[in-house]
Amino acid sequence: MADELHTCKHGIYPSTACSSCKAQSMPTVYISGGGMKYHATPSCPALAEGQSKAANPEPILPVSLGSEVAQSRKPCKTCRPPRV
Ligand SMILES: [Zn+2]
Ligand SMILES: [Zn+2]
Repeated sequence: MADELHTCKHGIYPSTACSSCKAQSMPTVYISGGGMKYHATPSCPALAEGQSKAANPEPILPVSLGSEVAQSRKPCKTCRPPRV
């Protein structure tokens, strides 16, 4: 009789309720330091356009869709990244 529910490595029970574990299983999205949106691909034209407008464009960073920085942004309408 296996119990499916267990405590995760972050000490959350059940592990399915842990936001950190959930974030790790989320797809990767891309953000730029100065942008307000997150993108499905680092080669998104809207992302490139935003970078070209910035005087000092910040590097494009891959982040987990479940991370706070991605959740505080809106999905890009051009490349249509997955939603949480
Ligand atoms: Zn966890
Ligand atoms: Zn985009």
